[in-house]
Amino acid sequence: MSLYSIYVLEYGFVPEYHKSGVVYGAHNQGYVKLPYCYAVIKGDNWAAMVDVGYNDRDYGRYLGDLFDVRNWRPPHDVLAEIGLTPEDIKAVFITHAHFDHFGNVEAFPNATFYIQKKELQEWVWAMSLPDRMRWILSGIDTGDILRGVQLARDKRLVVLDGPMENVVPGIDLHVAYDSHTFACMWVTVRNDGQAESGDVWVLAGDLVYQFDNLQGASEQLKIDDLYLPVGLATGSQFNLIMATEAMMKQVGYEARRVIPVHEARLEHTFPSRLTKHDLRVSEICLGGDATSAV
Ligand SMILES: [Zn+2]
Repeated sequence: MSLYSIYVLEYGFVPEYHKSGVVYGAHNQGYVKLPYCYAVIKGDNWAAMVDVGYNDRDYGRYLGDLFDVRNWRPPHDVLAEIGLTPEDIKAVFITHAHFDHFGNVEAFPNATFYIQKKELQEWVWAMSLPDRMRWILSGIDTGDILRGVQLARDKRLVVLDGPMENVVPGIDLHVAYDSHTFACMWVTVRNDGQAESGDVWVLAGDLVYQFDNLQGASEQLKIDDLYLPVGLATGSQFNLIMATEAMMKQVGYEARRVIPVHEARLEHTFPSRLTKHDLRVSEICLGGDATSAV
């Protein structure tokens, strides 16, 4: 019996995002839809999230407008689709500090947040650099970093210095340093609870945006299943490829078990439905005797 249900919940989307942002080097290849989502891991009387989206006000709204995000809805509306409220969320695993992942911590009053030490520290350092180096802060709302520091002050932030097994039973946190950002976390759910699990799901954060990053293709190289790094890296494409290999190894190279949350095509792989706000609910797996939300 599975321990957890896992959902990917869309809270907004960019209708046309340049493909070279999704796949490194895909210049002049047009645009793709880029959903903005968070994941929910739901057990018996306990629920966690992987990332929290952003809040559509102040600088969060500015960035949302800059990236042309449509149909933004607050967590209260989005979580209601699977029968939860923001107050039900007990833990949040922050994959990285970009605004669309770390921009709404205030919406979750009962949650303890987990982030990597290097991720928080290095963004504080980056904020201190001269404005001519501001590209480094692409996708960052500096207010989110301050709110993260405040969470630490309030003893609601667990600052991890590396990976952590069994943060709760069956859930492990991993790190990819100097990849998409300084210290990107990714999450594995061993859904049978076994150490050598045969039922592993990986929540990839932004180490993988879409299926193309896992199973791209190269006509020149004549390779069908080619890892292609995402278009934005504070660190290196090399580290993105190495992180992809680590994730694929965790799932026995069964690519559908690595879940990208900026992927509009999850509906082809998993049961899903659209809400009245035209946002998609994707049901990755169902735990125990949970009934389907789609
Ligand atoms: Zn990101």
